[in-house]
Amino acid sequence: MSAREPSTTPPEASPFTYDLHNHSTFSDGQLTPDGVAAVAKAKGLVMGLTDHALMHGKLRSAADFTMYYAAADRNLLLRGLEVDLGIPLTWPVRVLQEADYLIGSLHGLTLDGRDHPFIEYFNYRLGLQDRYELPAAFADRARFLDACLAAFKKGLDDWPITIVGHCTLLPGVERDLPADWVDALIRLAVDHGAAIEISGLWHVPDESFLRRALELGATFSFGSDGHTRGTVGEIGYCREMAERLDLPAGRLFIPKPNRRR
Ligand SMILES: [Zn+2]
Ligand SMILES: [Zn+2]
Repeated sequence: MSAREPSTTPPEASPFTYDLHNHSTFSDGQLTPDGVAAVAKAKGLVMGLTDHALMHGKLRSAADFTMYYAAADRNLLLRGLEVDLGIPLTWPVRVLQEADYLIGSLHGLTLDGRDHPFIEYFNYRLGLQDRYELPAAFADRARFLDACLAAFKKGLDDWPITIVGHCTLLPGVERDLPADWVDALIRLAVDHGAAIEISGLWHVPDESFLRRALELGATFSFGSDGHTRGTVGEIGYCREMAERLDLPAGRLFIPKPNRRR
């Protein structure tokens, strides 16, 4: 295994130099883990590898996970995974326990007995498609927001999630989220001991949400959600928000490496 000692990062690494959300060729990212690590080195960042499992790629069998964790260790990347909430998937618990941390992020909803993945909305947000048509099942805004909250709650109840990823990246409702809904989501994360991710790729949550989260005692994490050479390690938005909020370093979540040697 890795020659890495329990201290995986130099003790002087500032919490503001962590990027805990990156994808590689183990799921839908374009860079290999070695490529991700090269960006981390070039940018002076401590990075985590957080590929999706059971979909979008290679992470399926126990052997795949072993290879994945070995690739992270070899490249001095933290061992993370992104759990796609709202998508019916069954994960082998053992492989989760070998991760240093889990990001849980809403990638779809089951409503009226049908699965509605958010992938088209994500592609639209990235400019990969010109139009996005809101599914009829999402048209009732209050009902949709309630269902999102329930899906976050189920995810946080079911999985040992330590970071809630891109939490306001939600089809059709990103702007003007109701204040009580915002509070409920923040409290859900705080009560479950999960950090709220500031997303470099998606520029969410917005400043007012983050300010409220700071007031309500939340912790935060920086995540580029990088999938390409241009987006891996791109945490400009995270740093800008941290600066505007005057975010204390102690409010940033830093995973503790969890591996058994
Ligand atoms: Zn995601
Ligand atoms: Zn992601």
